[in-house]
Amino acid sequence: MSLPPPNVKTASRLDAIKPSITLAVTAKAARLKAQGVDVVSFGAGEPDFDTPEHIKAAARDALGTPAVARYTEVGGVAPLRAAIAAELGRVHATTISPDDVLVSCGAKHSLYNLFIALLDPGDEVIIPAPYWVSYPDMVMMAGGTPVIVPTSPEDDFTMRPEALRAHVTPRTRAVVLNTPSNPTGAVYSKAQVEALAEVVLERNLLVVSDDIYRSLVYGGATYASMAAVGPELAARTILVDGVSKTYAMTGWRIGYAAGPTPIIKAMAKVQGQSTSNPTHLAQLATLAALTGPHEPIEAMRTAFDERRQTIVELLRAIPGVACREPRGAFYAFPDLGAFVGRAAPDGKVMSDDVVLCDWLVDSARVAVVPGSGFGAAGHVRLSYACGMDSIKEGVRRLREALLTLR
Ligand code: PMP
Ligand code: GLU
Repeated sequence: MSLPPPNVKTASRLDAIKPSITLAVTAKAARLKAQGVDVVSFGAGEPDFDTPEHIKAAARDALGTPAVARYTEVGGVAPLRAAIAAELGRVHATTISPDDVLVSCGAKHSLYNLFIALLDPGDEVIIPAPYWVSYPDMVMMAGGTPVIVPTSPEDDFTMRPEALRAHVTPRTRAVVLNTPSNPTGAVYSKAQVEALAEVVLERNLLVVSDDIYRSLVYGGATYASMAAVGPELAARTILVDGVSKTYAMTGWRIGYAAGPTPIIKAMAKVQGQSTSNPTHLAQLATLAALTGPHEPIEAMRTAFDERRQTIVELLRAIPGVACREPRGAFYAFPDLGAFVGRAAPDGKVMSDDVVLCDWLVDSARVAVVPGSGFGAAGHVRLSYACGMDSIKEGVRRLREALLTLR
């Protein structure tokens, strides 16, 4: 008897979902490197620094205790939730109960839990563009509808209150605010956040405040908190944060969220039926990070700032490249629109930024992420969380390659 072929059709819910381009570019660079190709990768936003020693030491100590081999409460161990509540309360000038904190496997997981917990089919989430690649796809996976609000370089890619207002409909549940921004490095001022807060109250929206880069600000820029605008805003804001970027802990996979009790409870329900607690050992390392010395963190921030200044200067020196000054996070987001449509010496036409980025990695061995993944075609993103030597060599390659385009 011949069997029918196995039915390996996957859920149609995923048909519109794209793989993460940041991870794809990084994986391609890593594959080439493994084959012995010398690639400079400006791909994933991942600090090149080692996790600070006191954090690793806390984890080593914790390994000596049997408890670390066990599950924890779904939302994280109590001392960690207390430390997070204290830290976020201080940053956002509010009071947060440890019961309203949920620890997850990275801020990405926190956001996913949030959208699954929050959205009914067709519910809308407003996302200013350029945006981090994963927001729209996460919203869609949760059955929601991303509503993209374009912003302009003249406004340093920040969303104006009237643009927010114009995109609100009766289906709008939330607006995503990511300051400092991935990919633009834009930092909203206190006045800008307050102006957006007015619209949030006027239209009774929730705010998803992705603060993963809040500690990485430079040149006098300061992080402005939506929740700190006032208690009405704190009551409407879900804070999403984590240790990946600030503490060089991407691989530990710890992020967290704090917000209104019913929403955090619903997120905990999602997590309890999917991943359970994040890794116990990583939670204890995170506790050490949040309660430990600040100096190693400041040293990394200072190094990022030096790299930021260098990369911007080098990019601006390439004829045809325009590069705004990023004031936070660790990304440069130059406009390479002038090179789109041009041809390489072998005749290959750079029809868009995706083709351009493919060509750059294949022919110049420099990996950058196409802006179209962030809703900003023509731009590219370079993570400068790599070493200074890589920055200099990588931008040299980029320059040499771009200048061959006619
Ligand atoms: N938000 C933004 C804007 C990011 O760039 C990232 C980067 N990974 C995350 C959330 C998630 O970080 P993680 O899952 O490592 O905590
Ligand atoms: N958030 C980082 C980035 O944008 C890491 C990769 C990812 O999760 O997207 O590069």
